[in-house]
Amino acid sequence: MTASDWRKLLTQLKAKPQLLKRFFKYNKPKERKFGVAAFKCERCGRFGAHIHKYGLHLCRQCFREIAEKLGFKKYN
Ligand SMILES: [Zn+2]
Repeated sequence: MTASDWRKLLTQLKAKPQLLKRFFKYNKPKERKFGVAAFKCERCGRFGAHIHKYGLHLCRQCFREIAEKLGFKKYN
């Protein structure tokens, strides 16, 4: 399992409160302040090629797809 989808475990663990508690104590991934895993695309969950600028928090692929909807214009 990757760091990206650890939250999916919570749906399974909700039925087992004792295990959920143990998970948070021992197995929860660290909160990252910097590095690749600190930022994640809000749309698809990808870690690479993150765009922070203008508070977008998207990966470059998602940005390409929805840039025009957001109001970005290509001038060439
Ligand atoms: Zn994305």
